[in-house]
Amino acid sequence: MAEKVLLVEPEFPYPNKSKNQANGIHKNFVPVGLLKIGAYYKHLGAKVRLVRGNQSKRELRYYKPSEILITSLFTYWSNYVWDSVEHYRALFPEAKITVGGIYVTLHHESEEFKKQMKRYKVRAHVGLHKRAEKHYPDYSLLGGGVDHHVTHGMRGCPRKCRFCGVWQIEPVRQDKTPEEIVTELKAVGKNRVIFFDNNFLANKKIEGFLSELVAIKVNGKPVIFECQSGFDGRLIEKDPGLAVLLKKAHFQNVRIAWDNSPSDYIAIKRQVRHLVKAGYRAKDVSVFMIYNFDIIYKEMMRKLECCKKLGVEIVDCRYRPLEAVCDNYAPQKYRSGQTEDDYYIHTIAGWTDKKIRRFRRKVRQHNIWVRYAKDKGLAYDNRMEKWSAIHSTFKYYHMGRPPQLDIIEKSETWQRRLRIMNRVKTYCKKHNLNSLDFSGLTKKKLDKTLGLLLKKVDSSN
Ligand code: SF4
Repeated sequence: MAEKVLLVEPEFPYPNKSKNQANGIHKNFVPVGLLKIGAYYKHLGAKVRLVRGNQSKRELRYYKPSEILITSLFTYWSNYVWDSVEHYRALFPEAKITVGGIYVTLHHESEEFKKQMKRYKVRAHVGLHKRAEKHYPDYSLLGGGVDHHVTHGMRGCPRKCRFCGVWQIEPVRQDKTPEEIVTELKAVGKNRVIFFDNNFLANKKIEGFLSELVAIKVNGKPVIFECQSGFDGRLIEKDPGLAVLLKKAHFQNVRIAWDNSPSDYIAIKRQVRHLVKAGYRAKDVSVFMIYNFDIIYKEMMRKLECCKKLGVEIVDCRYRPLEAVCDNYAPQKYRSGQTEDDYYIHTIAGWTDKKIRRFRRKVRQHNIWVRYAKDKGLAYDNRMEKWSAIHSTFKYYHMGRPPQLDIIEKSETWQRRLRIMNRVKTYCKKHNLNSLDFSGLTKKKLDKTLGLLLKKVDSSN
């Protein structure tokens, strides 16, 4: 048995605010696999450390692991994995290195992968780590700061969508029982729980499962739930009672998936209605949509128009094939455009870089309209972008609702505050610092705090 284990999460290019935070869509990337593996090795009596990215011996405080386990995520982030492998192999030539996770499971048989394994003398772990799966994640490995628990209600999926790798990564269905989830949530003791299931509602015991989530209390309080993936709305159509149970169980940020053509509109409408009837507002429901795939741009725009009628937001997911090992899509950086050499463009269905950018822009405008204009009977206009940016800055600092845009625009003081707030926010994101909590600060205290922070930011630049 290894005495000293080093767990490595490569420096994946997550949106900065996502780390460890349970506040959005596809943003909750706690390295849950590594945390369970860490718990398992600790249980065996090993010393365990978890790091993010490539650290020097000094940064590791001369911890000398005999075993290193490096995780992988999306296939198109494979370069980050090999970068870490190269780094830690050079640092610890004698250590046993194993790579695992999604990319490894999907690519371990490719020639290029085998070549890299040989080059760096690493082993591949394919699929789930069965023994580690029996353990709960050890959040202490992340040094605290994780306000939520990440878990799965089930593994695998009964469907086989062409663009999805779940049925290859998790070929065996495993459904947690209602009793198991209750025991787990009580043992972990957190009041916010994110399910990483890919098809949560397909759990064979979903009704009993949800009923337990409705009833459970942790620390004497109800638990707030979220599912990172979209719900399979067809299952809600089949049993609308599930929507009621989701609402009663305090599921937030509810999303359903609309992967196919506009002709599914009536079904999607029914699904949204069931959720609204259960107590959700339409504007709090989002629809996941894969684009840059087989549905052509024009039809995607029709889907967008349908979402407008329904008053729901859209979560756009750009398709990347499972074979793709890199992705350099960066519209902010390359404003004049990019090509197929930079990232995958599904030209076979007529997608182009321009169409991809245009679709994303339309989705952003649509979402802003749903959030800020629809209820007031207004149409989208450019000023709402500004308003949306102010909202997100206020949200970042937990400051609640900002003053009216007119007030901000006429106030020198508010404009100066916002400039500083945005500078500090950019600094925190760049340096992977946790967001600051300004809730409850008086304006005087806020100005004083911002002044101090600005000095710090200036002096470190
Ligand atoms: S339903 Fe979802 S999880 Fe299942 S195969 Fe389709 S996309 Fe993947």
